[in-house]
Amino acid sequence: MSDCVFCNIVGGKIPSALVYESEHVIAFKDINPQAPVHLLIVPRKHIPTTMDITEEDMKSIIPEVFAAVKHLAKQFGLEQDGFRVINNCGENGGQTVDHLHFHLLGDRQLTWPPG
Ligand code: 5GP
Ligand code: ZN
Repeated sequence: MSDCVFCNIVGGKIPSALVYESEHVIAFKDINPQAPVHLLIVPRKHIPTTMDITEEDMKSIIPEVFAAVKHLAKQFGLEQDGFRVINNCGENGGQTVDHLHFHLLGDRQLTWPPG
């Protein structure tokens, strides 16, 4: 989608600090970090929200999301102290970019419950 910020990052039209790439997903640093490590794991395919994930996406894309989580947790030294993976879905979930993405936050003590 030409007007989607994450499609434009995937397509290289908007610059980003890329930290990981695989067949179906990329990861880059969040532009407005909420923790010392704040990465976004994003499917290359434009999927608006979690509710739009297809059965095929479940097999091809979603496993790569969690492969990216594990890889990046090691790459950024988070595996010992822990980290958080978040998907905000829709208005009540606080989703602001309508292209499926997973936040990976770490390198500080995170609190619960979230706001
Ligand atoms: P959401 O609120 O949809 O779960 O998260 C969207 C995230 O995308 C926010 O944390 C925001 O800072 C990040 N973001 C929005 N636009 C850009 C951008 O152009 N580049 C990067 N790197 N992150 C962005
Ligand atoms: Zn998109």
